[in-house]
Amino acid sequence: MKTDLHLHSCLSPCGSDFMDPYDLVGMARICGLELIALTDHNSAKNCPAAAEAARRYGVGFIPGIEVNTSEDIHCVCYFPSLEAAMEFDAMLEKHLPFIPNRADIFGEQKIIHIDGSPEIEHNLLLTGCDISIMDLPQIAAEYGGLCWPAHVDRDANGLFAVLGAWPEDLCTPAAEIREYRPDGLPEGLKIIQASDSHDLESLSEAGGFELPLESGDFAGLYKYIMEKEFERKE
Ligand SMILES: [Zn+2]
Ligand SMILES: [Zn+2]
Repeated sequence: MKTDLHLHSCLSPCGSDFMDPYDLVGMARICGLELIALTDHNSAKNCPAAAEAARRYGVGFIPGIEVNTSEDIHCVCYFPSLEAAMEFDAMLEKHLPFIPNRADIFGEQKIIHIDGSPEIEHNLLLTGCDISIMDLPQIAAEYGGLCWPAHVDRDANGLFAVLGAWPEDLCTPAAEIREYRPDGLPEGLKIIQASDSHDLESLSEAGGFELPLESGDFAGLYKYIMEKEFERKE
């Protein structure tokens, strides 16, 4: 199945204004992607519109968030439903400092509602929350979600670049890479490749990544992520 599980919309300050959830999902459809996830920085507020667009265009959709942890490490979180994602979003909001966004420096942060109307998000979404990467997977699980470190092969906000090594006590079922599998990943982790696209061009250039999922939804991803290696070989 062709997937891209790390995408930013115009709600992310670094996301292109053309990444309106409807245009983003439309481009995913044109590129033949079967399952996508929206993972804006520290917010799920464009997931309702993206979910509606995905329903209309017939693309599988998982609501998500890319959380910036207290260590300044990016982790992707995925949720079984919009409700769960929005509840997690409301919880996360309380763990973020309020720093007004400087749109002239960071770019605008636009929430697009299901009817297409825009609203400006004023709190800068790029800052770290006060939740540690050691606690985040358990907190996401309390919302039925999955969580793992994003782009571990990248210098900016990647786990290895910040911590130097994978912490012994960090239990995540997977790790995300952009291009290559770095040394030092624990055995048995599922490796998820994703584009981390912030604009329509990179989304279409990446063209999706194959994952052997039984269904193009959260349940399909969950089953694949949680199955043990020996079960797959049977
Ligand atoms: Zn990131
Ligand atoms: Zn990202």
